[in-house]
Formats: sequence, structure tokens, C-alpha cells
Amino acid sequence: MILLVSLFCKNKLSQFLSKFDSSCNEILYYHNHMLILGIETSCDETAVALYDTDKGLLAHVLNSQISLHAPYGGVVPEIASRDHLRCLLPLIKKVLSEANIKKPDVIAYTAGPGLVGALMVGSAVANGLALTWNCEVIPIHHMEGHLLAPMLENEKPTYPFLALLVSGGHSLLVDVKAVGNYKILGTTLDDAIGEAFDKVAKLLDLGYPGGPEISRLAEKGIDDSYNFPRPMLKKPGFDFSFSGLKTAVMLAVKDLKKQGKLEKEKANIAASFQKAAVDSLIGRTLKAAREKNLKRVIVSGGVGANKMLRKNLKKCFEGEVYYPRLEFCTDNAAMIAIAAAHRLNDKIKPSQIEAKARWPMEQINYQMRSKNG
Ligand code: ADP
Ligand code: MG
Repeated sequence: MILLVSLFCKNKLSQFLSKFDSSCNEILYYHNHMLILGIETSCDETAVALYDTDKGLLAHVLNSQISLHAPYGGVVPEIASRDHLRCLLPLIKKVLSEANIKKPDVIAYTAGPGLVGALMVGSAVANGLALTWNCEVIPIHHMEGHLLAPMLENEKPTYPFLALLVSGGHSLLVDVKAVGNYKILGTTLDDAIGEAFDKVAKLLDLGYPGGPEISRLAEKGIDDSYNFPRPMLKKPGFDFSFSGLKTAVMLAVKDLKKQGKLEKEKANIAASFQKAAVDSLIGRTLKAAREKNLKRVIVSGGVGANKMLRKNLKKCFEGEVYYPRLEFCTDNAAMIAIAAAHRLNDKIKPSQIEAKARWPMEQINYQMRSKNG
């Protein structure tokens, strides 16, 4: 599969590159000003953004694969890779033409963690374009992208801060001292929170992805109708666990189905599940902020778009809370470009295709690659 993706990509790339102005081949090096092309292909969104270190975000586009994966109730890796391949180059072209830019100074791409085939498409295209444009590349950690996404906003957090990163694949509490100085305080022992939203949505026969669907339905329900567990709240440390909560919902749904009452109770189940999940996230976050004496919290990742989480955390936390705007909570390329803007010292010449399915965040600085520039 990997070989196929590379070959396919190489083909498409050369067709695409022939349309570009090949006279732009001087080596550009700016100390202060950089135009960064960001590429995100780690899962089921193909996204491209152009970030100017002086002017800010110039353009960003995204193609969601949700409709392709929805019939399967989750992401199918092979379908994801093929669709990234289909969409990525046209999206890059679109962003450059929207911003009236011929080529960027540096290309940032998501190098991991994620689906390896999907990552390879972004990495191959980034490295291929960088060779042609004679510019450098910055491989970015997807979760660092989420972590730095609030820096795209006017109101930015200052360091140090606590990051609650909650997405389809991760639930992390990170003590952030500075860019690259990350200490993971807590993670999930089983399902990620976004995954729990998606699985509960499936139990209730709602669409995929489940988070927004549960959230919408929850507005029509009463959130203390069912007393679902708030996992880990009384345990030491800062880890999360959501499989017990998911099982409790599953048992309640089974019971209601038997009694023929499920349809009538769906909104109450969604509301009670959402409340329990949000309480768990907020409980652990407040504990970490208190024990680590952190006065600022950022929330990012797809579940960071959850209205109840945003509202309740702001209400419960005495310090400052920062979020990226809603469209930059879920996967996007603007966060990859802004992360690169904070990591310009890590630019390297394009070399190999870099794609890491697993990549612990605390090891970003040590594991990335040897510099060859
Ligand atoms: P990943 O990077 O793991 O693909 P994203 O950062 O794109 O994840 O986030 C996708 C996840 O966020 C999905 O699990 C989705 O259900 C969840 N999600 C999106 N919007 C909401 C919401 N409003 N409430 C709760 N979960 C949400
Ligand atoms: Mg993500």
C-alpha cells in the first residue's frame, strides 16, 4: 500500500508541478519574515493553509472525508489515503492562488501521529514540492499543532499553561512551559474522549462523527436523567478513563431497547452522557491546574468544540481559559502552519518521507530526525 501511495503521489506530483513557475528556484532565507505552507493529512481531513509570520493567516481550505467514511461508522485507512492523494495538490493550488502567492518559503506537514498511509501522502507531497521550490520543510507533531492552535487567535495564552487536548485519538493533559517543553501529566487509560462520543453516538444510531450529533441531541435532553459514572475523579494522578462510562451507557441503552423506550429516551441519554464526560474532563483539568499551580488553561482538539465543555470550564476555572475558534478545534492545516511558525529553527532540507503512526509528544525534540541542512 505504502509503495502504491508513493508511486501514485509521485505521478500526480509531477503533473501538478509542471503547471508551476519553475523560474522560482533561488534559495530564500528570511530571518524575520516567512511564508509557511501548512499541510495536514493525518486522518480524515485534507487541509492546507498559508501563514505569513507578519500578516497572520492568509488562506486555509479543508476537504472533509466524513461522507466517505460515514457508511462504515468510522475511518477506513485505505479510503483516507486515496482521498488525500486525490485532494491535496488541488487544495495547495487553491490556497496559493487565493493568497496570490507563487510559492512559500517553508512547507510544514504533519509527520505523525496518525494513519501511516495518510501521513505519507502529506509527507511525500511536502518533500516533493520543497525539492522543486528549493525551500525547506518542517515535520510537525499533530498534537503540537492542536496545542499551539490558540496562537492563531488575537487573545493568545502566555507560557506556562496547562493544555487539555481532546480529540478522536487523544485525551491529554500537558504541562506546557514553552514551545517544545512539554510534560504529559495525564492521558487516557482506554478510549480517547472523542472516540467515546463516537461510540455512544453509534449506540444511539446517530451519525458519524458522533461528537457534534450527541451535542445537538443533548440540547433536547435533561442531563441528570441518568446517573452515569464520572470515571477517575477520585483517583490520584491526572489520567482519564472512558470505557466504564461507555459501558454504563451501553447497558442503559440495552435495557431501554428491551423495554421499547429507547427512542423516547435518546436525548436524555445523550445529555446525561455528555454531562458525565464533560465533568470528568473538567475535574481532571482543575486538579492538574491546582496541583501544578497553572493559571492558564487551553483547550483544543475536536472535542474542544463542545459547547458544554467550553461553557462549564470557563465557569469553574478561576484562571484564564483559551480556545482556538471552533473550525480550528478539529483537524486543520492552520494549526500545522502556526506550529511551524513557532519552530522555524527546526527547518530542514527535504529528504525522506517522514510518517510516524505513533510519536510520544514529550519526544518531539529528540526523536524527530537528524538535521541535514
Ligand atoms: P483526530 O485528530 O483524532 O481525528 P479531531 O481533532 O479532528 O480528531 O476531532 C475529532 C473528534 O472530535 C471526533 O471524535 C468527534 O466526535 C469529536 N467532536 C467534534 N465536535 C465535537 C463536539 N461538539 N462535542 C464533542 N465531540 C466533538
Ligand atoms: Mg486532531
